[in-house]
Amino acid sequence: MSIKTIVLASSNTNKAEEIQILLGNQAKIITQQDLNIEPTPETGKTFKENACLKATAVYKKAKLPVIGDDSGLEVDCLNNQPGIHSARFAGEGASDTDNISKLLNMMIGIPAEKRTARFKCVIALVGMEESCEVSFFHGEWNGFIAEETTGHNGFGYDPVFIDQGTQLTAAQLDPRLKNKLSHRGQATKALKSYLGI
Ligand code: IMP
Repeated sequence: MSIKTIVLASSNTNKAEEIQILLGNQAKIITQQDLNIEPTPETGKTFKENACLKATAVYKKAKLPVIGDDSGLEVDCLNNQPGIHSARFAGEGASDTDNISKLLNMMIGIPAEKRTARFKCVIALVGMEESCEVSFFHGEWNGFIAEETTGHNGFGYDPVFIDQGTQLTAAQLDPRLKNKLSHRGQATKALKSYLGI
């Protein structure tokens, strides 16, 4: 079987690495940055809309199969915030540390049983076999928000997101285990099966 080159409509190298590992060696992931394509403004109201916007905008320029992924953290006691604003929760250009600090400050005094949360991921695929139709793949990872950061792996909210099953933060998990459990892992598994790789 020939190796499929797929463009990831993102400049996040952590994500690109996670998705490359998940898809295995039958696919080669390159990023929009590798093709000098500018990031697409995330003006959608849902993960699905944003994933679709990113994938279709990059497909118009790249003329190669593209996946657009949108993901984020929903915290129950914060009415599902930060949601689609996860990357810029503490403001435009905010670092992971800034976003985590804002989240933990907003949750001071919230008891353990009310700290439930989930990561969500939607992947949009466009341009496979010259089709302009968009296919969607979903993943969800349940857990809760810690009171302080623990662990050094991963990115984003990993140091404060406790996996429901292992009771470890995503930043404490071996990256291979995170990939198996995570929202992105589940969505990519569905994509992989669709691609037959
Ligand atoms: P996106 O690039 O618009 O999908 O931004 C997603 C944001 O959600 C990231 O910048 C992180 O803040 C957060 N996020 C998504 N997936 C993960 C994850 O696996 N671990 C930690 N944070 C994540």
